[in-house]
Amino acid sequence: MATQKQKTFRERPDTIDDQGNRKWIKVRQPKGKWYTRRTVVASFLLLFFILAPIIKIGGKPFMLLDVVNRKFHLFGATVYSQDTDIMAIVMAVTVIFVVLFTVVFGRFWCGWACPHTVFMEMIYRRIEYLFHGNYQRGRRAKVPSRFAVAIKYVLYFLVTLFFTNVFIMWFTGPKGLLIIWKSPFHEYWQVYTAMFVVTAVYFWIYAYIREGVCTLFCPYGRMQGVLLDAKSITVAYDYKRGEPRRIKGDCVDCGGCVSVCPTGIDIRNGTQLECVNCTACIDECNIVMRKMKKPEGLIRFASSYSVETGKSSIKSLRTYAYSGVLFILLVALVVAISGRTAVDASLLRMPGTMYQEASADTISNIYQLKVVNKTEGFKNIELKFLRPNNSAFFLSEHPIKLNENGSFDGVLILKQAKSDIKTKNAPVELGLYWDGKLLETTAATFIAPKPE
Ligand code: SF4
Ligand code: SF4
Repeated sequence: MATQKQKTFRERPDTIDDQGNRKWIKVRQPKGKWYTRRTVVASFLLLFFILAPIIKIGGKPFMLLDVVNRKFHLFGATVYSQDTDIMAIVMAVTVIFVVLFTVVFGRFWCGWACPHTVFMEMIYRRIEYLFHGNYQRGRRAKVPSRFAVAIKYVLYFLVTLFFTNVFIMWFTGPKGLLIIWKSPFHEYWQVYTAMFVVTAVYFWIYAYIREGVCTLFCPYGRMQGVLLDAKSITVAYDYKRGEPRRIKGDCVDCGGCVSVCPTGIDIRNGTQLECVNCTACIDECNIVMRKMKKPEGLIRFASSYSVETGKSSIKSLRTYAYSGVLFILLVALVVAISGRTAVDASLLRMPGTMYQEASADTISNIYQLKVVNKTEGFKNIELKFLRPNNSAFFLSEHPIKLNENGSFDGVLILKQAKSDIKTKNAPVELGLYWDGKLLETTAATFIAPKPE
């Protein structure tokens, strides 16, 4: 039987039998120091998820994705949709960080911080243990009545509905969510529809799909084969110490590591795509090793390189390369945030226009001026040409009045005396002032006939 299993484990997922039917994973609840640590981390993450949009820092939400007003509160700082440079760098930093983290620490994210695992293992699975008892060698400790099973699914649904509302709160804030709850259904029917669709989908995922998200659908899981190398740290079975099992090796073939695995795999077959690095098998094997009076760590965090050679190393060329890129991006992010201006401005010559002879001794150019207020306060913006110094201009509204996150879009006409024009194509620079303080400058060119 074992030989047959070894023969087939790479041919199909462990969750599918030889008839092609799904095999339900009946996973035993782990216990041990890694499970306790995971519980602490998951509790912190769940609290963060629930409280982050409620907490305020300096009167501003700690986390709020205000898509309607195109304003994002991230860790107490406000970023507007106009801050595209900062957002692009943040996205690049996130991608490189995920790649680097995966190269060095394997699928650590999946087992410890992925929302799916946190919800599945720390909430839904625990509800299941409550009604079904713990599993012992694939069997339930108690067989619940149909009524108990129905209650379990009602609980699943209520928990999912609760977290869907928390998710909506990340976009509306607590007050916005309260307004939705208090308003008649027809006023927010779109939000309610989205709420029930999301709840239904997630209920289906946690009640039925379960580990299939990690083993079949998750794109991050698919990337492991590309990102991991021999020096990546994963949950690994020390086959040099464990084999031949039950004979000379330390593995007693008790199957404990398999019975706690939420994806149903046998880690003794080597690093597998399905392993989410949850560490449940480490805890279980350590219990067995202690009973057998053998050293712990037959299954542990290790790279296949270190299991093979006995040396530990997380250094590889890819690690250095990704670290270098990550460092450069972090510096760029610091520069972009520290150089962030209160207003954004652009001055562009009106497309398709040339210069105009405004009078016998004056030339004018027409520009399109855009100004965006990236702060939360009202701004009264005064304009002054820095180059040519104090040039006369015409603008429909001056000073420009900008509300919080407001913008101005208007036509600016700049005039210059012919006697001052020295070149056909001269640079101009416009300064934007608030309370006498220069906030931003923007540049363009002034075109004129060839000076005589
Ligand atoms: S093999 Fe171990 S670490 Fe990997 S998913 Fe299974 S129990 Fe978790
Ligand atoms: S728990 Fe440890 S001893 Fe038991 S089968 Fe797994 S690796 Fe072997």
